[in-house]
Amino acid sequence: MVENGARHPLASTDQLCILRSSGGRGLKSVESEYKLIKIKAAVKLCANTDPTLKLVREFEERAVDKGRRPMLKDASGFAGELGIELELEHPEPVGWTEEGELIDKKKIEMFAKKALYTKLAALEELYQQLLPTKVYSTRKAKTSGDSDVRCRLCGKGQESVAHVLAGCSALAQTAYLTRHNAFKILFFELLRDRGLVNTVPPWYRVNKPIYEGEKVTAYWDIPVFADQTEVRANRIDGRIGDKARKTVTLLEMSCPWVDNRDHKDEEKMIKYAPLRLELKRQYPGFNIIQYNIIIDVLGGYSKDLKKSVRELVGSERSTAVLGRMQKSVVSSSLKIFESHELKTSS
Ligand SMILES: [Zn+2]
Repeated sequence: MVENGARHPLASTDQLCILRSSGGRGLKSVESEYKLIKIKAAVKLCANTDPTLKLVREFEERAVDKGRRPMLKDASGFAGELGIELELEHPEPVGWTEEGELIDKKKIEMFAKKALYTKLAALEELYQQLLPTKVYSTRKAKTSGDSDVRCRLCGKGQESVAHVLAGCSALAQTAYLTRHNAFKILFFELLRDRGLVNTVPPWYRVNKPIYEGEKVTAYWDIPVFADQTEVRANRIDGRIGDKARKTVTLLEMSCPWVDNRDHKDEEKMIKYAPLRLELKRQYPGFNIIQYNIIIDVLGGYSKDLKKSVRELVGSERSTAVLGRMQKSVVSSSLKIFESHELKTSS
């Protein structure tokens, strides 16, 4: 399907698994079903008062201590992707919605199912670019007699999917920044590898600007100050100085529109050239390496990024880390769309 252009290359498989009743292609995703089953099983295990199941629970708890990823942890992760935070305590497991609403153990499965299908249907719409932007309603559906296709938020660009997701000045300062959550996923993996954190926390909870170890210091969105030379673009998303390896790793994330992915890399290299020079001066003998983490707004990325992530976290974890980043970018795009709709319909 990818070859025929029916799918966005490298896109998530989620879009293929929408139920026919939601207007999708009716292919059931084994992966999604598997996730729902895991959530259901975890809740059941925690709610069960049968003493024989106590052993299974204890085994699960020990496995967590040893750092393996058993069922309970997986189930929490899957539920998290659907916006449900699980508290898998025996004998009363509960869930919390993002709005802080308590979900009874009996209703967790239903909530998860609903969240999954809502998300899949929205994703499908996004991929097909059929979301109700003005350009769509005037040009494609011909439902609107209004020929003014200017963006209802900023009043400047044409209100296309590309504009809303990557080019609207009214959304640039806040909404687009949520995409950096994807970057945090990678950043925390790197912090853990270097012993600066013990666990990778849920990205939305922790954000310290500086992490200091004996040999390694990591900076999150902190400007580099230069004494003499003028370095205007001095604020890069992440920077890790490693005295043992004699390297400074620079990391910059961006989420351009699909067509602009290739230019972004060059643009970022040029933008931070003076910063690399300044760091070369501040860290004599160090190797300054810049990685541009470019994932387009629909979740596509290049072979170069695959290679970069392999270099950064190792080949074993790179696919999983990239997958999580991709999901995060796509769900941010969905949220941006929702907020655009909300702002323009009020
Ligand atoms: Zn706009």
